[in-house]
Amino acid sequence: MSLEIENNQTLQKEVPVREYIKKVLELIEKDEVTDEEAKWITKQTVDNFREHVNPGFLEYRKTVTQGGQFAAVEWTDEGNCFKDVNGKKYIDCLGGFGIYNVGHRNPKVIKAVTDQLKRQALHSQDLLDPLRAVLAKILADITPGDLKYSFFTNSGTESVEAALKLAKMYSERSTFISTTRAFHGKSLGSLSGTAKGVFRKPFLPLIPGFRHVPFGDIDMMRKTFETCRLVGEDVAAVILEPIQGEGGIILPPEGYLKQVRELCDQYGALLIFDEVQTGMGRTGKMFAAELYDVVPDILCLAKAFGGGVMPAGAVVAKEKVFKSWFPNPFMHTTTFGGNPLACAAAIATIDILLEEKLPERAAEVGKYFLQGLKDAAKGHEDKVLEIRGIGLMIGIEFHKDEVGYEVSKAMFDKGILVAGTLVNSKTIRIEPPLTISYEEVNEVIRVFKEVLPNVKIK
Ligand code: PLP
Repeated sequence: MSLEIENNQTLQKEVPVREYIKKVLELIEKDEVTDEEAKWITKQTVDNFREHVNPGFLEYRKTVTQGGQFAAVEWTDEGNCFKDVNGKKYIDCLGGFGIYNVGHRNPKVIKAVTDQLKRQALHSQDLLDPLRAVLAKILADITPGDLKYSFFTNSGTESVEAALKLAKMYSERSTFISTTRAFHGKSLGSLSGTAKGVFRKPFLPLIPGFRHVPFGDIDMMRKTFETCRLVGEDVAAVILEPIQGEGGIILPPEGYLKQVRELCDQYGALLIFDEVQTGMGRTGKMFAAELYDVVPDILCLAKAFGGGVMPAGAVVAKEKVFKSWFPNPFMHTTTFGGNPLACAAAIATIDILLEEKLPERAAEVGKYFLQGLKDAAKGHEDKVLEIRGIGLMIGIEFHKDEVGYEVSKAMFDKGILVAGTLVNSKTIRIEPPLTISYEEVNEVIRVFKEVLPNVKIK
């Protein structure tokens, strides 16, 4: 192809692209969109998911009807709700699988971020950045025990990666014990700890040295520690979610986490708590570690850490562990982790959680919510196996995936967003903002009660 023809083709493409971008930027700027614009946005979203993102999503999401003619496309959010582009409102019991602990676009978080944005958005990575320092101090104050030093990330999987690398460096060992049904993320390191075969198999072999034992089985954990020692592969760390989220809201058996802590101490291994989902007040305490009175050596955070406004995560570690990175702080780095906007969001988020006592609120509202759902499910034991949870981390387990999917879809049609996709609906998760009102909780329970009898068991 001659250079001239090639240039012409680029030019021809560039003009419509600029027009397209202009139209999109104008829509972003608008407070309200017209019906015609809503139709255009919906069509663009579905078409471009099909052609340029991944058509698979159109199959799996309950928000898209078969054939993809109708699709719920999100457009605005506020308080405890999302609205789609057509203005239909949904009570959010799912958002980001638990990222909206302080509600959607909490004004205090927005203010901190926009105030910071007016001055400086991202950091130079050369001068010292003040908000990172301040946020690390705040975390040392609010996390349990003697957790003291923080490394900041942009996501949960990155927090887990950092924790694993820190544990390796500190211990000079490379064996990790993880648990069945665990979810720690999908990058290669964290995926090694994740338990679900379907996500792991195509990428094997993963990081060597990972052993999985059944969550809650302390004898198996003990035997694994013993075996690892016998074969000269001493354990660097145990990685656990104190309450398993993705695995289907699995609470640890009584005394389990304390016993794991004891085993770690006995074998000189570290204990990593992945509180990406349980952290920031979700379970009724600021951190689930406090529920069980166990202090980990390394704590992983993300999801709600950025207040539902900024992607942000952290690993917080004890000094004796984090010290491994003192001589060379560039041992593990990320360009954007700990940027000023993310730190501003996290600082404001922590302030809201403390000021409004949202962890305590989660405990109280969660208890009411759980009981209400259990009452609503009475008489439907053929469909619902168990409803369990703590704080505002609730799971409804069905006998079959299909029943869960039908329930979550029917609830969605009635304006309630709960977890449950075509491929993963056996336990649907309810993880609303900790600010959810009692009226909204009542509405969710009412709708759950209404849809249950109409769901057919195939
Ligand atoms: N760890 C836990 C416990 C999680 O629930 C998740 C996400 O669901 C992750 C890690 C991964 O976080 P991210 O999706 O931000 O990478």
